Amino acid sequence: PQLANQIAAGEVVSRPASVVKELIENSLDAGATSINIDIAQGGTKSIRIRDNGSGIPKEELALALARHATSKIARMEDLERITSMGFRGEALASISSVSRLYLTSRMIGQSKAWQVYAEGSELAVTIKPAAHPVGTTIEVLDLFYNTPARRKFMSTAKTEFTYIDDITRRIALSRFDVTFILQHNGKIVRQYRAISHKYQHQRRLVGLCGQAFVERAMGVSYHNSNLAIHGWIANTAGVAIIPELKYSYVNRRTMNDKFITHIIRKAYQEQFTETQQPAFVLFLEIDPQQIDVNFHPTKHKVRFYQDRLVHDFIYQAVANTLKQNSA
Ligand code: ADP
Ligand code: MG
Repeated sequence: PQLANQIAAGEVVSRPASVVKELIENSLDAGATSINIDIAQGGTKSIRIRDNGSGIPKEELALALARHATSKIARMEDLERITSMGFRGEALASISSVSRLYLTSRMIGQSKAWQVYAEGSELAVTIKPAAHPVGTTIEVLDLFYNTPARRKFMSTAKTEFTYIDDITRRIALSRFDVTFILQHNGKIVRQYRAISHKYQHQRRLVGLCGQAFVERAMGVSYHNSNLAIHGWIANTAGVAIIPELKYSYVNRRTMNDKFITHIIRKAYQEQFTETQQPAFVLFLEIDPQQIDVNFHPTKHKVRFYQDRLVHDFIYQAVANTLKQNSA
């Protein structure tokens, strides 16, 4: 079984940032409103994610590390209407198969916390009492210590941290109601505080994307009976904006999908010039039954059943926004 987990790990966990992504998504699924992300040496040494979510019951702690164990999907039909971030039950099993992993959790309503430890190929999990407030901490040490080939593919700590910073920003953009604090080697690097009022939106957006982006950002907001899109798009010509600030989301899930990026760039370059690149943060909302997020293990890609309609909708929304703003 551990071999299968390590193979799955190859798909789900390609570098420290993908571990961070999976762990943050688990925290969000658990209803956390505050997530601390502590990284040492770009995540190659340790990744610790602590949340104040609902926690995991003692009896389910060891199970959480088992492959295809998910508490989020009970029936096959659920796969057609996925609303949680996770659903494959693959992340923790994969991560623990290529690291030394501590999972500590206290379930809401319980007075005690418990910890399990799993190391690489041995899934022999020992459980012992621990001190922890309600919520969960997952600590991943020595990522890829037992898969030297993958370890070699990691970049410098500095570069790996850049990826972690990026994925944290992406996710934090989709959840203004959650506080994210990112530390690297013991220093706080980012603090995205949860906002409780609409008027704090701007501040959080500046914190996430920078003043230059916000000053140039054009608001996008369109919907029809099947689709909605909202967010911001900005002209980057001549300004320093966070590199690769091209973030798209489908139903609040961050995407790494050329399909959407390509449409936006096309609409943009139609309006401006061939060489100009837009920066954007755009959220697409669509009926979960109209998409398949289960076709790639990273859940970073999505298949639209009616891709032509989606294409035209996004294109029109971006083109109209640009036209109105240049008029
Ligand atoms: P998935 O998210 O696809 O269900 P994972 O391997 O990521 O699978 O997690 C396995 C299970 O462990 C989840 O279904 C959930 O029950 C539990 N779990 C993981 N992380 C947390 C967390 N931070 N808080 C509460 N439960 C968690
Ligand atoms: Mg998960």
